[in-house]
Amino acid sequence: MTPLVSLIGAGPGDPGLLTLRGAQRIREADTVLCDALVHPAVVAHARPDAEVLVVGKRGGERSAAQEEIVHLMLLRARQGRRVARVKGGDPMVFGRAAEELEFLTAHGVVCEVVPGVTAALGASAAARIPLTHRDHASSVALLTATERPDREGTAHDWAALAQGAQTLVIYMGLRRLRETCAALIEHGRAPSSLAAVVSHATLPSQRVVAGTLEDLADRVEAAALPSPALVIVGDVVGARARLGVQPVGPLQGRRVLVTRASEQAEGLSHALREAGADVLEFPAIRIDPPLDDAPLRAAAQDLPRRPPAVVAVSSANAVDRFFAALAECRLDARALAGVRVVALGPATAASLRRKGIEPDAVSLRAIGEGLADAVLALLGADAPGARVLIPRAEEARDASLQALRDAGCRVEVVVAYRTVSALAPRAGELRAALEAGVDAITLLSASAARSLCDALAPDAAELLRRTAVVSIGPQTSLALRALGVTVAAEADPHTAEGVVDALTALFSHRTPEVS
Ligand code: SAH
Repeated sequence: MTPLVSLIGAGPGDPGLLTLRGAQRIREADTVLCDALVHPAVVAHARPDAEVLVVGKRGGERSAAQEEIVHLMLLRARQGRRVARVKGGDPMVFGRAAEELEFLTAHGVVCEVVPGVTAALGASAAARIPLTHRDHASSVALLTATERPDREGTAHDWAALAQGAQTLVIYMGLRRLRETCAALIEHGRAPSSLAAVVSHATLPSQRVVAGTLEDLADRVEAAALPSPALVIVGDVVGARARLGVQPVGPLQGRRVLVTRASEQAEGLSHALREAGADVLEFPAIRIDPPLDDAPLRAAAQDLPRRPPAVVAVSSANAVDRFFAALAECRLDARALAGVRVVALGPATAASLRRKGIEPDAVSLRAIGEGLADAVLALLGADAPGARVLIPRAEEARDASLQALRDAGCRVEVVVAYRTVSALAPRAGELRAALEAGVDAITLLSASAARSLCDALAPDAAELLRRTAVVSIGPQTSLALRALGVTVAAEADPHTAEGVVDALTALFSHRTPEVS
């Protein structure tokens, strides 16, 4: 791909508001330079091997940092790398994109601008304050209350601004809200003019406080609204009451910590975000290849020559690793021709289908014994002497094996992967997140439960007391209880969707605090 620097607008907050072009450019990038305010789910479009740097800081970058950023962009472009520079909102609206474009263009770098939904548009949609309205406003001005972070005060022509446009949208206006309202009144805007502050627009934590130019600063101070926030001034604020509210999901405003392995987190996180939750991803475990992968490769290699009666798989990871081993041996799904395949749980079945295999039996009970039951039901009278190949995790339990052996099956277990704790290096961050307040935490495996409690030792149970712990099924619940953790709900069915339903049921009797 030709080297290219893309200046991308990530949208105001909700990661679903990134444009398709923006997502594509982030996926293609070798280097992703992201502003601190950009949602982690936007950054997650980057390839796993991309260089990802979170740069700048909230409330205005130091100019030195800004200089380092443009020099790094230039360096990477000259190294022939594709660069995605991701900024909140739209890069050309109070985004300093012009400075970056000017510098890079002067140095002969090809740049592209990918627009984003600017905060004013995000806030007006999410808070239902139309920026224009046939009855109230036919002009809008976007302005900033803080023209340069390094310079106090303002050179605005307040008289012109106060009266020049019917709707005013003020960026970076929270810190100077009182002075700004006073300046508008002083220059001719009526003290009773309607005005509102929209904080965290489009995010589950969005809050809106409305008032007049005279009392807005007091109201906002009393409500302790956090930045980033926008001020909207004008009669359009009054239309809000008649426009309903954006529909919200059942988990709106709930902060949910997701602990599954990062490669699998996407489905669950997506489902939770769709339900309105504010998702924090802390992958608890990492899936690593077995320390010795020779047995797995030998089992794959052997498959066509010595087909077992049944291949039984108990996780999507086992499916992925087994098929990776087949591919290494230059084999594919056809190596399973004539072999019956049994899956534990619908998620495992779905990943088999993605590999072109329709399982002969699926155990809906996602526990070890379920796999043995399904295999035995499938084999019937043929069970004695039947070879059953089980690729699975190194640390898997043996519950299913004994039942199969008792029925006379020749069970061959092959280690397909190891689950390794990935939380230890982020223990401090995790502790801080829990202390700041997390409504629920989802655990999708016993190993994730152990990894979580290890990372929070010695006071894991204490730290988790104020958070609803939701487990995917009986094995995970068992592991949690053994660790002294109270399980608030257990998913049924034992799938990501089941987890979302369990959380929804858990929170449905309480109304979240959104204003
Ligand atoms: N380029 C960005 C603006 C960057 S300046 C854009 O087009 O939106 C940063 C200011 O944008 C903040 O001080 C705040 O006023 C506003 N802002 C950014 N995200 C916001 C959000 N989610 N809710 C409310 N205001 C936001």
